[in-house]
Amino acid sequence: MSIVVVGTVAFDTVETPFGRGDNVLGGSATYFSTSASFFTDVSLVAVVGEDFPDEHLDFLKSRDIDTAGLVKIPGKTFHWSGRYGYDLNEAQTLETQLNVLMEFRPDLPESYRDAEYLFLANIDPDLQLEVLRQVRKPRLVACDTMNFWIGSKPEALKEVLRKVDMVVINEGEARQFTGESNLVKAARRIISLGCKRLIVKRGEYGVLMFTADSLFAAPAYPLEEVYDPTGAGDTFAGGLMGYLANTGNFSDEGVRQAIVFGSVMASFNVEDFSLNRMKRLTYPEIESRYRSFKALTHFQGLPDQLD
Ligand code: AMP
Repeated sequence: MSIVVVGTVAFDTVETPFGRGDNVLGGSATYFSTSASFFTDVSLVAVVGEDFPDEHLDFLKSRDIDTAGLVKIPGKTFHWSGRYGYDLNEAQTLETQLNVLMEFRPDLPESYRDAEYLFLANIDPDLQLEVLRQVRKPRLVACDTMNFWIGSKPEALKEVLRKVDMVVINEGEARQFTGESNLVKAARRIISLGCKRLIVKRGEYGVLMFTADSLFAAPAYPLEEVYDPTGAGDTFAGGLMGYLANTGNFSDEGVRQAIVFGSVMASFNVEDFSLNRMKRLTYPEIESRYRSFKALTHFQGLPDQLD
């Protein structure tokens, strides 16, 4: 089954304690679609400027990503600059240049409008709503966001959260959005807006999934080499949604497996700058790390209990 994703395709300038990348390929939709493409077909809705090179488009096409909804308009591509300190969990945004994003009015190709799976990646919530209006009867809609939009467009964002089945959000952003420092209470508040599942990303501490009556935790895979956490959240969401679209299994068990696939994908992405690790990644590596993940988190029940 195929996923439609709307989000940013960007140039990023990123500095971490281990190096820097200037004007490298980034963007929420880029990371998401690359990750999801290991599991299912992906159609991309985004905008770039005239400065966006064919080399990056060729990379997306090499992953079989449908770029019919990726438009190029006069102006400069969205550009994000950020820095990470030794605590790689939190990016400090140095600059956000919206550029062509300010002119973008998505108009989905007809073939995208019957999409069964829709991911509203991090982008202006008004654009997320516009895409949501154009998709007819999706089976599953999920969204992400970040502090920039929580601060600048809280009302549009609330409307997005009310209309989706699943929200994937950073721990700090869940707190900022609700004004609640306790994560469990913050999660309850977001769920009360109407989404069925909330997945809170906690960087190197993994993820928590909340529903009205259940809770699931998955750690992040412990890695020795972490170079650049940029895009980890979008890559996580790509693995999660890609696997769900591949199986169509939205049971609690199915979503738990999807969360582990998402975590596996994110663990690869942070091993190199930009999408460099994703460019070399193979499916057997993904399966192998999924198995290691299972071993990492497996433990027996109480001694007098049969498993
Ligand atoms: P994350 O998965 O949260 O690390 O996402 C990183 C990506 O988000 C980067 O490649 C940026 O280009 C992109 N990004 C940064 N700020 C924004 C924003 N305000 N809206 C949409 N995308 C953004």
